[in-house]
Amino acid sequence: MADKNRDPVAVIGLGRFGSALAIELTQRGTEVLGIDNNPKHVQDLSGLVTDIATADSTDLAALKQLGVPDFYRAVVAIGSDLEASILTASLLVELEIDHIWAKAVSRQHGRILRRIGVHHVVFPEHDMGERVAHLVSGRMLDYMQVDANFALAKMRPPKEFVGIPLGQSGLRRRYGVTVVAVKAREEEFTYATAETELGHGDVIIVSGRTDRVERFADLP
Ligand code: ADP
Repeated sequence: MADKNRDPVAVIGLGRFGSALAIELTQRGTEVLGIDNNPKHVQDLSGLVTDIATADSTDLAALKQLGVPDFYRAVVAIGSDLEASILTASLLVELEIDHIWAKAVSRQHGRILRRIGVHHVVFPEHDMGERVAHLVSGRMLDYMQVDANFALAKMRPPKEFVGIPLGQSGLRRRYGVTVVAVKAREEEFTYATAETELGHGDVIIVSGRTDRVERFADLP
């Protein structure tokens, strides 16, 4: 529908993931309608989310009564009850919501959600597990896989690159990674240039192929 207000988001399922999402969206100034069939979960979010309602999202009449068909974006944040997740998602597809997001707890769950027409499937537990694995096993302070084989990592610079302008360090040629930004102690991040010299206490953002970034992060 051309006249839909594109801003509001319906978040269905206010467990740990859904409630964090609903609160974050509200804090960023997006209007949110949070829905859960557990009155306690709804009550806990009172005052933290724009609008909340207790309802069973597998009930088409209840969704219609709450105005869900008018939403441009909706997120199904139900994970542990597969039946409720799939039924809810299929109702949103039937209601022709333009952008349906859903959280999946397994590959099979994700596959079914995609097959019934969910536009964006996310795997929060799996993705966070992968990310934490990078943090606990190396020197990375943060890690984000931005594509199948491309990553961004936040880390302290390896010793051998401290005190030399990046342009002369051979970093890209030898390790296949690029330093995108640098933050000196007590300062803010700025873009790195060929003249930038890294200091011991700096934090850098490195980008490159996943295996290259991992290898670079293993340097002392
Ligand atoms: P998390 O791991 O993020 O806590 P859960 O799958 O455990 O995710 O939580 C899902 C939430 O969805 C719970 O708050 C639950 O009450 C809610 N929920 C489950 N089924 C329905 C349903 N049919 N209608 C509305 N909310 C539901």
